[in-house]
Amino acid sequence: MRIDIITLFPEMFEPVLNESIIGRAQKSGALQINCHQLRDYAFDKHRRVDDTPYGGGMGMLMKAEPIALCFEDICRQTGTKPYFVYMSPQGKTLNQKRIKELSQIENICILCGHYEGVDQRLLDAFIDEEISIGDYVLTGGEIPAMVFADALSRMVPGVLSNNECFMEESHFNGFLEYPQYTKPSVWRNMEVPEVLMSGHHANVEKWRREKSYENTLKKRPDLLEQEHE
Ligand code: SAM
Repeated sequence: MRIDIITLFPEMFEPVLNESIIGRAQKSGALQINCHQLRDYAFDKHRRVDDTPYGGGMGMLMKAEPIALCFEDICRQTGTKPYFVYMSPQGKTLNQKRIKELSQIENICILCGHYEGVDQRLLDAFIDEEISIGDYVLTGGEIPAMVFADALSRMVPGVLSNNECFMEESHFNGFLEYPQYTKPSVWRNMEVPEVLMSGHHANVEKWRREKSYENTLKKRPDLLEQEHE
């Protein structure tokens, strides 16, 4: 999978997407993430990427043309038209189901907004989908883009050590994960459930399924309701 990110702050992504699991996946070639500095595509007299909104009001808006030029350049580089996502508090809230679907796409481009957002004409003409990371407003789309790119990357074959890693995790199948324990077996008088030390795989599996259901019922009963919709 190739992910292109259009942003005014590409340096923000360095420490997050070039480290640990995602960093290793990029080095191995399983994944490619490219950040593009939007200012490099501002070719008007003052090389501006933002301007005041028509009709008045507070703040600045990101201009359409630099974004269009940057996206068109990415299309040329990739030889295709990537699925173009705008990180926006007005989008549909991201969940694991949508991540699973979108991870099937080979080329995704992410636009990070800033200031008051982006000229609506750019959104109407270029954007395939607006995605939100929750019903609150952040100062920019960079953190949402990192969340989205990280969640997408984990689904790409070869990024995690084996598929079990995400298939058993919370939200993959509509449930939360079961509780987990590591050494020591007794910590401050609290013991690890006996079944997990029994070596009986079928019983461990059964216990995990039951706990996963209990956990979901206790913490997120809404997920069980969604399952039956
Ligand atoms: N004026 C916009 C509105 O009311 O819808 C909010 C703009 S916000 C201050 C600046 C940028 O941050 C947005 O363009 C978007 O890219 C990003 N952003 C803020 N909150 C977000 C969220 N919950 N999910 C995704 N992106 C978000």
